[in-house]
Formats: sequence, structure tokens, C-alpha cells
Amino acid sequence: MIPLFAQYPLLKERIPYVSLGEFPTPIAHLSKLGREIGADHLYLKHDGLSGSLYGGNKIRKLEFILADAIQKKAKQVLTFGFAGSNHCLATAVYAHKMKFKCISMLLAQPNAQYVRRNLLYSHFCGAELHHYKNERTMYMPALIRLFGHFLKHGKFPYIILPGGSSPIGAVGYVNAGFELKEQISRGLLPEPDQVFVPLGTMGTAVGLMVGLRAAGLKAHVVSVRVVDEKFGNKEKFIKLFRKTVELIRSIDSSFPHMKIVDDEVDIMHNFFGEQYAGFTEQGMTAVNLVAKSEGIKLDGTYTGKAMAALIDRVRNNSLRNEVILFWNTYNARDFSGTIKGVDYHLLPGGFHRYFEEDVQPIDKLH
Ligand SMILES: *Cc1c(COP(=O)(O)O)cnc(C)c1O
Repeated sequence: MIPLFAQYPLLKERIPYVSLGEFPTPIAHLSKLGREIGADHLYLKHDGLSGSLYGGNKIRKLEFILADAIQKKAKQVLTFGFAGSNHCLATAVYAHKMKFKCISMLLAQPNAQYVRRNLLYSHFCGAELHHYKNERTMYMPALIRLFGHFLKHGKFPYIILPGGSSPIGAVGYVNAGFELKEQISRGLLPEPDQVFVPLGTMGTAVGLMVGLRAAGLKAHVVSVRVVDEKFGNKEKFIKLFRKTVELIRSIDSSFPHMKIVDDEVDIMHNFFGEQYAGFTEQGMTAVNLVAKSEGIKLDGTYTGKAMAALIDRVRNNSLRNEVILFWNTYNARDFSGTIKGVDYHLLPGGFHRYFEEDVQPIDKLH
């Protein structure tokens, strides 16, 4: 049974849940990296291994989201992201497994090798992919699709918010907080003082903060913003926190009533760079350092930037004696064999540019 349900049996009865991944995810002690950057107690929570078909942070959310879709008898899920979205890929992979039709509405983004891989794997999983230049041009087609579906089936498709960051999706990371608590109790790591996590649509960081607190852990969550500030900011963070706690408490009122104030939300803004999915020098230096010292692959869009922030904060604040946990949100499963024979010409024309144009220069090292 998942740790959240073990603590709150009422939630087990009343919140739909489907097991998609492999939990608990491992804890790694990053002793070599820690020595290099001056952190004596540096650990990693390996959510890259959260699923056998595809890992990363979206799997925990989808266990609750797709279960909700099953309960609502949906046949089709519709979601949103940028062209290389790990969220849309994870949704395509696990929707396919659960026999949903998956439709992804995707926006243009800077080119990178992972964009190509993700698109091919989404296509392989049977997802219907649509490409739009910007949000404005996506709006009408999305509405038309929704109402067309309504006229045909008498209901809307099941909508999954960008990044899966609804309160229901965030519950996956509330559970992750309780999972960490169990691993601490089993002696796999000391209780962390600080937990570093990338901040995108915020479901991961928010859910984790709710979960860690509810589990009675003192850990301070440091969120490293890797998206435009209009998507990731304190106001939205606090709102999603409140809604997530309210959702859980509406189902089981014995869950603690928690509030956060402005000061408790620690968002690092200086590692974003120029734009979403635009890799940075610092981020890629961190990616290479972690690959060399620990053999773990981070990415340029999310985890590389978060690790760069961690390294910076450790160095500038001499956190040598603190227990620091890096929450790895990036998929670690190799699916290159699966997509080997997939021809990009099978994708809609709007996506061909990602295969025909160069990737951003800094990505060549990958
Ligand atoms: C989506 C994603 C994130 C951001 O998580 P949010 O819950 O959207 O904040 C972080 N890392 C990776 C690798 C992701 O794919």
C-alpha cells in the first residue's frame, strides 16, 4: 500500500489511485559530487526510475490523474505542453497502457535532442499530436476539439492540465513526502535540511511541501524556477498549496490543516536563463559534472538548472554540514531502442522542423 494511504485509510477508500510506477524510488548518496562541491551530506531521490516504461516526476501525478479519468469513465485524455514536454510523453505512455486515447496539444519551443526523442516515443504510443506556434493559435482549435467531442459523445474529453499540476496530480507528491519519511525511518538517509526541486507547473514542489510537512519532516523546500515567471510564482504556489490541502481535507478531515505564507516559499529565480528550454552554460556544466562524478543523467531544461542552483547555494552559504536532498525529476529510462524504427515523417508537418533544423548549439554536448 502507498505510504499516504497507510497513514490515512479514508483516503485509500475515497481517492482513485492506479499503480503505474515502481515505488519507493531509490535514494543515492552522492559522495563524489558532494566532495567536489563542498557538501558532506548530499543525497538524491531517484524519481528518474519511477516507471519502467518511462520515468520522471509525472508518473506519481498520473497515478492519481488517470485513476480519476478511469473513475469518470473517460475514453480520451487531452493534455497540453511544449513540443518536447516530458509530461505529454508520460501521459502518452501511460494513457496507452491504460487504453485511453491520448491527444496532446503542443506549443513551439527551442529545439533540442530530447524534443526529437520525446515526439517519436509519443507517436509510437499512439498519441495524436498537434503543433501550434503559440498559445493564441492553440485556443480555437482546442475549443473546437472539446465541443466536437461533446457533440459526438455527450461529454468532454478528460482534460489534464499542463504538467499534470492539478490538486489531484499534486497528491502524487504529497504521497512522495510520506515515502521519503519511511525511507528516513529505515535509515536510508538522515532527515534532510533542504530539498531542491525544479519548479515548472509547480505540482511537484507544492505536493512535496504538503507531504513533507504532513509527514512531520522539517525539510525546507527550495524550488528552482525553470519556466516563465507567469507560470511559476509565489502567488500560484500558495494557491495550489491551499487547494491541494483543501482537496485532501474534504475527503479526510483528519489530514492536518496547513497554511503557508509568503516567506515560506523559497523560489530561486536566477538559473532560468533566457527562456523555457533554453539551456544555460551553468545548467549544462552541472549536467556534465553529475554525469562525470555520479553517472546520473540530468537534463538541460529542468534538472540541470536546479542542480546549478543547488551548487551555487551550497558554495555561497557554506552548507557543508547540512543534509541536502536533490529530487531528480528527470526520466532515467532509455527508450532509444523503442523509437529506433520510428520515422519522423509520420508526425504532422508542424513537427518536422525539430528534426530538420539544428538543435541549440549548447545541446551538441549531450
Ligand atoms: C515537468 C518537469 C518538472 C517540473 O515539475 P512541475 O511539477 O511541473 O513543477 C521538473 N523536472 C522535469 C524533468 C519535468 O519533466
